[in-house]
Amino acid sequence: MVQVNDVYYALSSNDEIAESGECGGAVTSVLKFLLEEGIVDAVLAVKKGADLYDAVPTLITDPEKVIESAGSLHCGTLNMAKVVSKYLQGAEDIKIAVTTKPCDAMTLRELMKKDKVNEENVVMVGLNCGGTLPPVQTIEMIEKIYKLDPENVVKEEIAKGNLIIETADEEKEISVDELEDEGFGRRTNCRRCETNIPKMSDLALGNWGVIGPLAGKATFIEVFSEKGADVLEKAIESGALDVQDPIPKGVEIRANIDKAMVNLAKKWQGKDFQENGGDLLTIVAQYQNELNKCIKCFGCREACPLCYCAECTLEANGPEWVSKGELPPSPMFHLERLVHMVDSCTNCGQCEEVCPGEIPLAKIAHEINSKLQEEYGYVRGMDETKPPLSYFAMQGK
Ligand SMILES: Cc1cc2nc3c(=O)[nH]c(=O)nc-3n(C[C@H](O)[C@H](O)[C@H](O)COP(=O)(O)OP(=O)(O)OC[C@H]3O[C@@H](n4cnc5c(N)ncnc54)[C@H](O)[C@@H]3O)c2cc1C
Repeated sequence: MVQVNDVYYALSSNDEIAESGECGGAVTSVLKFLLEEGIVDAVLAVKKGADLYDAVPTLITDPEKVIESAGSLHCGTLNMAKVVSKYLQGAEDIKIAVTTKPCDAMTLRELMKKDKVNEENVVMVGLNCGGTLPPVQTIEMIEKIYKLDPENVVKEEIAKGNLIIETADEEKEISVDELEDEGFGRRTNCRRCETNIPKMSDLALGNWGVIGPLAGKATFIEVFSEKGADVLEKAIESGALDVQDPIPKGVEIRANIDKAMVNLAKKWQGKDFQENGGDLLTIVAQYQNELNKCIKCFGCREACPLCYCAECTLEANGPEWVSKGELPPSPMFHLERLVHMVDSCTNCGQCEEVCPGEIPLAKIAHEINSKLQEEYGYVRGMDETKPPLSYFAMQGK
């Protein structure tokens, strides 16, 4: 019987899926199984768009099509939670299984706490994540550093701290550290992220810790909820997955890599955050020069998975808050947005990615959120008490 906290090595028992999957296709097989059995109505996954650098969310209802979403897209910088809350109406009337990197899973949990996503209807199939790559910079990096034509790349993969770029006839690997020293590598929000294993998902799957004969051919699964245990047990019983106990040394290695990645993230936070920190007002004041680049395009609000008010107070009639047409907007513009979402911010980076002024919005929100977590002793993205400062708690929402 599968139980919470159980760990396994797993791979698909279907050869085609095992071959197409990133590390043996366990994720794809679990998703396909859930759809075939009618446990979910649809699968929300990610598939290649125009090219390898273009990851698009895809809603699949035909089990035979799940295989089209197999594989890990490291330039997949999207946040799945927004798709669920905005385009699937919070999964109110549809049962879904969704692949969740830690930022997807944390954001979904925050939205569940606010009743914006129906937890009952969602199975979170988590993916470990050491970080995603910014598509445009990655294309530039492949040209400049790898000296390869980005259009000829057939596969990108991160293994043992190296980014491996493969064309039809060549394979080159360079350490992510080295790439980051050159100003490339992972997105800046991912560098600061301390959550590599999405334990707020129902299951978490990843390649870390798979050693021995199955290295590269299977994935490591950890069970984090009763729902995850039930799903995995049924998938194993159906014959969709082959599982075995992990090699104890592998379990140890996985924990050590995770620890090393958390320390690395803390180092990046130390580099990125202001030395003299302070409270929300002080932090915002320190970034005022950056915030003055704002052209009030509202891109950050549109991209943020945690901005969902039907009527935005930033657009309401309230000249005392933010005067229409005023540029740069008063600091109240940013403070108002932050007060709405910063306690839940999961550092997913969507705001910063779309900002035409290149304001380090994710960094600012992450810095404030880290302070809040530290001050009020809560962990965002987990099912824990909200900080007393929460705007939503004050509103009774
Ligand atoms: C961006 C990224 C970074 C990762 N980093 C690590 C890591 O550092 N350490 C580690 O142990 N494992 C990491 N993984 C997980 C690992 O690469 C495999 O996905 C995992 O082992 C499952 O393998 P599989 O063969 O069962 O997956 P598959 O059967 O190939 O299924 C992979 C699933 O992931 C979905 N997917 C692909 N890209 C994304 C994306 N960007 N966002 C959301 N869903 C996506 C696909 O739609 C598919 O459903 C990462 C995955 C991703 C997507």
